[in-house]
Amino acid sequence: MEEDTLIKRTSVPELDAILGKKFKVLDDGFIRVIDYMGNDSSIVQAARVSYGDGTKQVSQDRALIRYLLRHKHTTPFEMCDIKFHVRVPMDIWRQWVRHRTASINEYSTRYSIAIDSARSMAADEWRMQSTTNRQGSGDFFPLEQGEALTQQEKEFHNQARQLYLSRIEAGVAREQARKDLPLSTYTEAYWKCNLHNLLHFLNLRMEGAAQYEIRAYADVIGNEIVSKWVPFTWDAFIDYRMEAAYLSRHEKLLLGMVARGEAEAAKAYAKENGMVTIAEDGTEKLGREIKEFMTKLSSMGLTSPWA
Ligand SMILES: Cc1cc2nc3c(=O)[nH]c(=O)nc-3n(C[C@H](O)[C@H](O)[C@H](O)COP(=O)(O)OP(=O)(O)OC[C@H]3O[C@@H](n4cnc5c(N)ncnc54)[C@H](O)[C@@H]3O)c2cc1C
Repeated sequence: MEEDTLIKRTSVPELDAILGKKFKVLDDGFIRVIDYMGNDSSIVQAARVSYGDGTKQVSQDRALIRYLLRHKHTTPFEMCDIKFHVRVPMDIWRQWVRHRTASINEYSTRYSIAIDSARSMAADEWRMQSTTNRQGSGDFFPLEQGEALTQQEKEFHNQARQLYLSRIEAGVAREQARKDLPLSTYTEAYWKCNLHNLLHFLNLRMEGAAQYEIRAYADVIGNEIVSKWVPFTWDAFIDYRMEAAYLSRHEKLLLGMVARGEAEAAKAYAKENGMVTIAEDGTEKLGREIKEFMTKLSSMGLTSPWA
């Protein structure tokens, strides 16, 4: 019988050094790593098991990780797990829990008194509704208006808390007394996820279209934690996901025309394919897809035919 080969548990000194450290997010939130399993080498090792290959040099490990991420060979990234402890306002948590591929345990306000903290905005943090994006924010309010909004918020938070505490005092069940707590109330949870799903979360929530508040958490997870935990994977993720651009069939053809200086052909193609329409008054109406393509062109330093 073959002898057992004893192995050492993988560890990442850079991540061990920040285990349990609370990274402050927003006014009273935080995120900290509770535990983790695996590192860049675990990803490589898992991939080489499928290829029946042995250990290679570090430079080859880096290249393999980049290859796997580039070609969406995702299962080796599932070999790494990480567990966080987060404190987050309930409205943002509601976005967070839409990511179904994590395991969660949340602080129970049926069992315990709700956390006495609500996300409060400083006077210079109030954002106006965006005029171009129905889901987004625009400019900040002038300070004077911001101060008034902050004052109203403070009064409302106090009132809501007092109502909640008076219900508790009167013996109302905690599960019912909580019903009028504001969504800004902080909750805490353990959130565990594998690296593949975490990268998917970061891709969606570090992106500019995500709400500022959840982006603040995702930025800390990415820049302060994942970058230290799996540096090769992190670099590949930035190169092939976060900073990369996806091109549709139409966009690929249009990009060729723009690069060859065929602006008129590009305009005609966009019209033929319904990406640009003509309004009743004869003006060109740029569809969403073409606007997104223009953003991609601009990120490549190219001038758009519709500019
Ligand atoms: C900028 C932004 C705006 C958003 N706006 C809205 C909104 O207005 N309204 C709204 O309701 N949501 C909104 N969402 C949430 C969004 O629709 C997703 O629910 C959320 O981002 C989670 O993504 P996911 O399902 O890919 O992630 P996860 O749940 O982590 O799943 C990861 C992947 O696993 C697979 N998967 C998981 N579960 C299933 C399943 N049951 N069936 C099939 N495949 C599955 C899918 O491939 C999925 O991409 C928004 C998200 C973002 C980032």
